[in-house]
Amino acid sequence: MKVIIVGGVAGGASCAARLRRLDEKAEIVMVERGPFVSYANCGLPYHVGGVIEKESSLIVASEQFFRKAFAIDARTNCEAISIDAKKKTVNLRNTKTGEVTTESYDKLVLSPGAPSVHPPLPGIDLPGIFHVRTVPDVKKIREWLEKGTTFLAGMYNYSGIQMLKPTRRAVVVGGGFIGLEMAENLVHIGFDVTLIQKLPQLLGPIDPEIARLVEGHVRRNGVKLALNDGVSGFAQLEGGALNAQTISGKTYPADVVILAIGVRPDTTLAKSADLAIGERGGIRVDEHMRTSDPEIFAVGDAIEVKDFVTGQWSLIALAGPANRQGRIAADVIAGRDSRYRGTQGTSIIGLFGGAVAWTGASEKMLKKIGDTDFEKLYLFPNSHAGYYPGAKMLGLKVIFRKSDGRLLGAQALGEDGPAVDKRISALAVAIQMGATVYDLEEAELCYAPQFGSAKDPVNFAGMVAADVLRGDMPLAHWGSLDGAFLLDVREPVELAVEGVPGAVNIPMGQLRSRLGELPRDREIHVICRSAQRAYYATRVLLQNGFKAKNISGGMLSRAMLQLT
Ligand SMILES: Cc1cc2nc3c(=O)[nH]c(=O)nc-3n(C[C@H](O)[C@H](O)[C@H](O)COP(=O)(O)OP(=O)(O)OC[C@H]3O[C@@H](n4cnc5c(N)ncnc54)[C@H](O)[C@@H]3O)c2cc1C
Repeated sequence: MKVIIVGGVAGGASCAARLRRLDEKAEIVMVERGPFVSYANCGLPYHVGGVIEKESSLIVASEQFFRKAFAIDARTNCEAISIDAKKKTVNLRNTKTGEVTTESYDKLVLSPGAPSVHPPLPGIDLPGIFHVRTVPDVKKIREWLEKGTTFLAGMYNYSGIQMLKPTRRAVVVGGGFIGLEMAENLVHIGFDVTLIQKLPQLLGPIDPEIARLVEGHVRRNGVKLALNDGVSGFAQLEGGALNAQTISGKTYPADVVILAIGVRPDTTLAKSADLAIGERGGIRVDEHMRTSDPEIFAVGDAIEVKDFVTGQWSLIALAGPANRQGRIAADVIAGRDSRYRGTQGTSIIGLFGGAVAWTGASEKMLKKIGDTDFEKLYLFPNSHAGYYPGAKMLGLKVIFRKSDGRLLGAQALGEDGPAVDKRISALAVAIQMGATVYDLEEAELCYAPQFGSAKDPVNFAGMVAADVLRGDMPLAHWGSLDGAFLLDVREPVELAVEGVPGAVNIPMGQLRSRLGELPRDREIHVICRSAQRAYYATRVLLQNGFKAKNISGGMLSRAMLQLT
């Protein structure tokens, strides 16, 4: 059996290596248009920032390694230019010599990825404007940062006495994870960075109130944000610098511009073979990663996937799914019945020492598809036991089915990145296993005080959500309090920091003796700092015959929502 794999990075390389492990006899040809196979796209922004110093560190496995360790005919600088699906052949072009050859296949795997979006804006091809997708892209950025403009080259003063070095300016276009990682790395090497984002929020997949916290964090770390404004074009300034112009009419001077406005599935080859393209513009595959042609498979950023939670077709460009899909395609080619389960979009981004992560469905996605059978809650637990030094607060939003408690999605952020990672990774597995909030109550997780709490935030989320579903803790949300009686159970000293207009204050410790002051004919919505004392108060009130609800996340979620 002869298998040709197009694309030698995440999906393609994992498919090739897995196939060899399953089939010693298969003839495997892996072609890659660029000069490297198996490079670490995810590390590219950190090479710009100098965190990953050497370019060679970005090469996970070389062409020679694939040849020697796996007997795979790995060919760099080799581009697949067209497919003849009837004859089962692929035309390959040597990108150095231009020579075109034809190879036959029994099975073909496409993993061409998704190139960066490059809109036809005026000036978009000017020198100093870059995408970040490949190792050569980053090499060009680093070279430009050394000497691209007269400022960058250090030629900013001809007097001979260089007293004041002007600030080096960067504009990053796009507030997704690549844009944000580039912004952080450019700040790291001393640039004054402005990030322009067309959407009204950073990180499109997360909910706006969580994004507001991310935006605050990014701004505090020196990145200027221009949200809700798109770039309309670029003009060249003297000395090689650029002006980025926006739809709202603003201009931002820059010595370097990074374009990170999204990616688009590469379907050129698939179209040349008349393969079915899905409604979102990606290659359509079945759960075995087979395209509409049974001899051709496709994996990675180029395909459409079923969203694991909503069941909708989506485009989700992530390394983990691409690797798993490559492996599944290899399994199926080798005769195994492996199936892809769908993508949850589980992601994490490190930002200036903190992290934000998410998995599954967001509230805005559920609303967009008209799904109303869900409840959400906000929690602000410590990253580990509060009594052990160094605990940091986490912000956690958990979304679950009202009707059966199934976990649907979660978003978390905090200054303790590994703690954010741990919780969202645990919740991601739970979602994939179809777990309910009742399962989270029972989850047995690692615990020692420097790592977590005996009641981990994951358990805690399950307990609170299960309390809501069992009716033990009816929940209310800021913004939909509908004329309820507001009871604030914080201490007076806390009210001095921030009060809620119209709320009556009875500190938790006095509540049982002052129940007579509360109305029995109105719903009482209880407020505290994080909703914990309000939970205790809600239980007291419910057991004394009052209609009470706890306002999810208390004053902390109010602060977050007020920011939106
Ligand atoms: C800067 C950056 C940071 C990222 N960070 C993260 C992260 O932190 N976490 C995460 O999960 N994901 C991250 N990603 C996304 C992740 O890298 C991709 O989802 C993943 O690499 C997709 O794998 P793929 O095989 O589909 O495509 P790719 O890895 O892009 O590989 C496709 C390869 O196919 C080659 N190719 C295309 N057409 C042809 C052709 N006709 N002939 C020959 N070769 C061809 C291309 O040259 C390319 O090298 C990041 C991506 C970038 C660019």
